[in-house]
Amino acid sequence: MNLKELDTTYVAGTYKRFPVDIVAGKGSLVRDGEGREYIDLGTGIAVNSFGVADEAWQQAVIAQVGKVQHTCNLYYSEPCAKLAEMLCARTGMKKVFFSNSGAEANECAVKVARKYAAEHLGPEYSTIVTLKNSFHGRTLTTLAATGQDAFHKLFAPLTPGFVSVAVGDTEELERVFAGEKVAGILIECVQGEGGVCPLPQDYAQAVERIAHEHGALLMVDEVQTGNGRTGTLYAYMGFGLHPDVVSTAKGLAGGLPLGATMMSEKVQDVLGPGDHGSTFGGNPVCCAAALSVLGRIDDALLADVREKSAWLFNTLRAMPGVVSVTGKGLMIGVKTEKPASEVISACIDGGVLCLSAKDKVRFLPALNIPMELLEKAMAVFREAVRP
Ligand SMILES: *Cc1c(COP(=O)(O)O)cnc(C)c1O
Repeated sequence: MNLKELDTTYVAGTYKRFPVDIVAGKGSLVRDGEGREYIDLGTGIAVNSFGVADEAWQQAVIAQVGKVQHTCNLYYSEPCAKLAEMLCARTGMKKVFFSNSGAEANECAVKVARKYAAEHLGPEYSTIVTLKNSFHGRTLTTLAATGQDAFHKLFAPLTPGFVSVAVGDTEELERVFAGEKVAGILIECVQGEGGVCPLPQDYAQAVERIAHEHGALLMVDEVQTGNGRTGTLYAYMGFGLHPDVVSTAKGLAGGLPLGATMMSEKVQDVLGPGDHGSTFGGNPVCCAAALSVLGRIDDALLADVREKSAWLFNTLRAMPGVVSVTGKGLMIGVKTEKPASEVISACIDGGVLCLSAKDKVRFLPALNIPMELLEKAMAVFREAVRP
């Protein structure tokens, strides 16, 4: 069997794959099994923050693999503790729980909100409010949090206690907080899977105000928007928010599975011994990788992300066949006159990998993608979107 046959025969059919197999690469250039080269504008869905086989990242991973690959959370581990310290120093958060994925990072956030509310507001305060069009993961709890019915079909019953409200409607939000016993609200500052849609700034601020007026927690899902993606270390910083809990994953360890749930001073002691856990969470190799990634997301890199973003927005908006461009930083959604799938296929043929989000083409390039590759990729995209 060839690779495609092998995969469709034996791998669960949950993914509609593009006809590409990535076997190697360097930075923002990746190569398929036949030696064809592509400019990667997807980074494995915002995971490979510094591209493929990045030198410093590789050294950090190899060095840790050579020492110990896993210890378990019953022992102390330096990469884990140092990463938690770095995350707290860079965000002002006070404690971090490590897991392996975005969904798990959000599960932890929900547990923090429910326990905090049970102890401070009363055990009936368990409702978690989320936004319509959101995406928070694929576990049964994070599916319940995901405000898109399409993901829920045939998986009922989901975890109870979730209510989703329309983005932008502060009156509906006030009503829900008045009528429900709310423990917290979970938002994405830029809805990624929902079509790369930034929240209106005044709405984001209203969410924080209303949550805090009711003693509920503001939780920000930074799984996709985090770790420099939107031009600030975390997107909430660009929105001027003060979350009680921040979850992240995807780009955090630059290509290894790592989730983190950060807790502010107010909730730092909510989780105690036995309240939560993970076998792999805080794995030393993943944490060493994340130390390398986070250590390099400095002010200069973030300024560079914002500069490339501005260039991309201007370039894309001037292209015939582009209807609209949304997003923040290097997280960009493009509505095209042609169907997105057609544009993406034409890009693949032209040697450029991009993703989709709802009916849009989505770009999530490496934070350090060279300008020259962005220019080349946009030349291919210009032809692909041309009506
Ligand atoms: C990808 C994503 C998740 C889920 O992350 P997994 O690692 O796939 O569990 C959750 N929230 C947001 C905003 C995401 O983009």
